[in-house]
Amino acid sequence: MTEVAIDETLEAARQRLARALDAAGRPPYAAELLAVSKTKPADLIRAAYACGQRAFGENYLQEALDKQQALTDLDDIAWHFIGPLQSNKTRQVAEHFAWVHSIEREKVARRLSEQRPADLAPLNVCLQVNISAEASKAGVSLDALPALAEAVMALPRLQLRGLMAIPAPSDDPQHQREPFARLRHALEDLQARYPEAPLDTLSMGMSDDLEAAVAEGATLVRLGTAIFGQRPPRD
Ligand SMILES: *Cc1c(COP(=O)(O)O)cnc(C)c1O
Repeated sequence: MTEVAIDETLEAARQRLARALDAAGRPPYAAELLAVSKTKPADLIRAAYACGQRAFGENYLQEALDKQQALTDLDDIAWHFIGPLQSNKTRQVAEHFAWVHSIEREKVARRLSEQRPADLAPLNVCLQVNISAEASKAGVSLDALPALAEAVMALPRLQLRGLMAIPAPSDDPQHQREPFARLRHALEDLQARYPEAPLDTLSMGMSDDLEAAVAEGATLVRLGTAIFGQRPPRD
């Protein structure tokens, strides 16, 4: 797919999210759409913006910075960094994004807090949880999550908003729900432990499992392919 009619795919994605919320008995605006634009050109982001989309997710720092450069006139975009983050890349993420979904180490969190510019609001962050217990997947283990959450909440320039996960793929909708339910329970545990904290975000659900994630309480669904079309395979 080279030409994507963004107005149509975006509208279809909104309707799909609305149907999933309705099927789950949740209110119409209980979950927000994050448009994942990795590997896609700035022009497509501009087209989605023209259709009212404001939240965009990017995985690769240099690619994201290049696109932000090309889109500086769209100054109310909320940029979300959702890819793996090494500690030598934290400064530019702290300076150029509103959200980071992929925190899995205290060291990275500490650097982001130290490097967040004073004139910007605190950086919104989610902790990425390894919810499928696979050695190969990124994210903090459920066992290590409470200590990491406590450490991140103590950082002055970060605002811990919730949890993110990328479960192992599954074609079975019922099976898809299990890891999302575990992530929801993990957030509920943190909410019970820290009732004053603004822990309102479950970043979960992608193009192939949006319905299962929404059924389990997703508040931010990250859709790439469904909006922008297939991506070239990465090696
Ligand atoms: C690429 C990516 C997505 C979007 O995936 P699709 O299947 O294309 O919707 C969502 N979240 C993360 C972390 C990603 O890397």
